[in-house]
Amino acid sequence: MSDINKLIDSINEFRDVRNWRQYHNPKDLAISISIEAAELLEDFQWKESEQALESNIDNIQEEIADVLIYSLMLCSDLELDVQEIVKGKLKKNAKKYPIDKE
Ligand SMILES: [Mg+2]
Repeated sequence: MSDINKLIDSINEFRDVRNWRQYHNPKDLAISISIEAAELLEDFQWKESEQALESNIDNIQEEIADVLIYSLMLCSDLELDVQEIVKGKLKKNAKKYPIDKE
């Protein structure tokens, strides 16, 4: 089992023992990803990057984790293979943004 799948199992175990899966429909998970991304932005608001990282690194880490947790929950529920979809998107991006050859 890949490290990502082990992580997804831990996340699913966390929500299942709390009986939270009933609240985790795709729409609300997508909303939650966006809310957590906004919380991450809040740590940077009105600051230079360096200043935000200096003063808020602990919370920045937590908000990144929240975005990832909800994203992995959504992948799990939609039965998406995380490695497959990320690699697929990178491949698509590589075509869209080719490396300039001089
Ligand atoms: Mg949060």
